[in-house]
Amino acid sequence: MSAPASTGRAGLNDGLLHTSVWTDELVASSGLPVIDMPFVTVGGGLGSFVMVDYLRIAGVPAGHMRTLTVLDHPWQNYEYLLSASQVTREKRIRSDSSSCLDNIWGFPGYAVRESFGARSVPGFIAPLWNVLTENVLCDYWTPKSGQVFRSMQREADRIGYWGTLDMGRAHITRRRHGGGYFTVLTRPDGNDVIYRSSFVHLAVGYPGLAYLPDLVEYRNRYGDSHRVVNAYEPHEHVYEELNRRGGTVIVRGAGIVASQVLDRLISDRDRLGTDVSIVHLFRTFVEGAHGPSRFLRRRGEHGWAYQGFNWPKSTWGGQDRNRVLRAEGEAREKWLRTLGGTTTPRRKRWQRMLERGRRQGFYRMYVGEVQEVVPGPVGAVVTRLKPGTAGAAPVQLESNFVIDATGLEADIAEHTLLADLLQHSGAERNLLGRLDVDPQFEVRGTRAEPGRLYAVGAATLGGYLAGVDTFLGLQIAALEVCDDLARQGFCRFIGVRRSISQWWKWALARTP
Ligand SMILES: Cc1cc2nc3c(=O)[nH]c(=O)nc-3n(C[C@H](O)[C@H](O)[C@H](O)COP(=O)(O)OP(=O)(O)OC[C@H]3O[C@@H](n4cnc5c(N)ncnc54)[C@H](O)[C@@H]3O)c2cc1C
Repeated sequence: MSAPASTGRAGLNDGLLHTSVWTDELVASSGLPVIDMPFVTVGGGLGSFVMVDYLRIAGVPAGHMRTLTVLDHPWQNYEYLLSASQVTREKRIRSDSSSCLDNIWGFPGYAVRESFGARSVPGFIAPLWNVLTENVLCDYWTPKSGQVFRSMQREADRIGYWGTLDMGRAHITRRRHGGGYFTVLTRPDGNDVIYRSSFVHLAVGYPGLAYLPDLVEYRNRYGDSHRVVNAYEPHEHVYEELNRRGGTVIVRGAGIVASQVLDRLISDRDRLGTDVSIVHLFRTFVEGAHGPSRFLRRRGEHGWAYQGFNWPKSTWGGQDRNRVLRAEGEAREKWLRTLGGTTTPRRKRWQRMLERGRRQGFYRMYVGEVQEVVPGPVGAVVTRLKPGTAGAAPVQLESNFVIDATGLEADIAEHTLLADLLQHSGAERNLLGRLDVDPQFEVRGTRAEPGRLYAVGAATLGGYLAGVDTFLGLQIAALEVCDDLARQGFCRFIGVRRSISQWWKWALARTP
């Protein structure tokens, strides 16, 4: 087996790097400190937080777990991505009232809590009315991101989450001869420590962002990352310049982030009265309702495919959950491709904004595949579309900025720890190219009896649960892992009695 390039870190010698299954003696020979810890979760974002929360509820002392992370608080990366894509703490996210990251029971949901936290009668009634009539009389009710973060803070305090943090980047997890795993953590001071654990849980989020190839080419060739930006990176300067001077901006993508970006552009334009034109470039233009059968259709118009959440609700707990769970191989891949895809919620506010934009001519739509992006006259970028027919001249779109809201994700092998797992620990890819996990989220091929290695979140898309990269998906995954760990004797099952007594503790903000 070939070894990765030496990291050059003190202590991680070639013997370790070249060996797939580590013995205690080999690890001891490195001279690195070894910490025995039954359970470690790598990531420290939403997935790790939910996992630690459920294990605490299932009776595991905080001292038996460590969260290996570079994040100070679990919502840090999520909040960063949200605010870059124009969702500030006062704005509403996409998931529903009962997808409560801080509350395993989903009751009371975010809507009830917002209602009881209101300081006026309309403020009390509005969330309740919305959630009771959602998707019939009103749009889906969704929580403000600020509420999600505040409630996580309360839960983190309650369960002693902060005491589980060990700061640093984990870059290797290898199987241990005799069972369990070794995880190498590089601390902020550059020193490595090795965790020896029976159970490892990986919740590392997105392996990275992938940019559209033509935009990468433009940025690399012309060194301009000012006029061509990704919606997931900070790009406030785009709005500032457009608000100051007016101009044209091209938005690429047709998911919720594109909707949020358009919302920001049009709201600013309305507020300040600046002359801003928006060109929305679609790769695939959805003209109407679409789907493989009469019973499997979603709404669509003006280029957009509409869906309340990024997967149909039935994939978290209905017939599609069972369908995906039972399907294997290509059948599952086919289902996931049918149920997934780029969608945005059909919110009335956005409908009204875009309708007005089309009518007044400041929002125009184009469809096509980009041939290349090149610099234009001073302060401009030219986007050339591939001609529709052979011999025709390419359509040229000139703009001051291009915002890429396509939200592509990088390959899992770009993540050091996941790449190492694929190379050394028996992990394999599923048909969507992500980590192959079983229905309990154990990474197939990596077992080191009696230890288990689990993975959750975006890195596992393609497995037995569709919405793995969602609040509810992370919660379902945590419950599956929790039950599996209970079968190994690591924690208690969360049965009816435990659930009721723990709910009261949650309600009274007592430690689990
Ligand atoms: C803009 C946006 C909006 C979204 N809105 C919703 C929504 O409304 N509802 C919903 O249900 N879902 C939503 N999601 C999806 C999902 O809930 C989030 O992506 C969520 O943050 C995923 O949690 P996670 O733990 O997998 O990843 P994260 O919260 O990102 O945590 C993973 C963290 O692991 C850390 N890490 C990675 N590698 C290592 C390593 N080797 N060592 C140590 N640490 C490491 C990184 O710092 C990373 O931040 C949204 C996603 C995005 C991008």
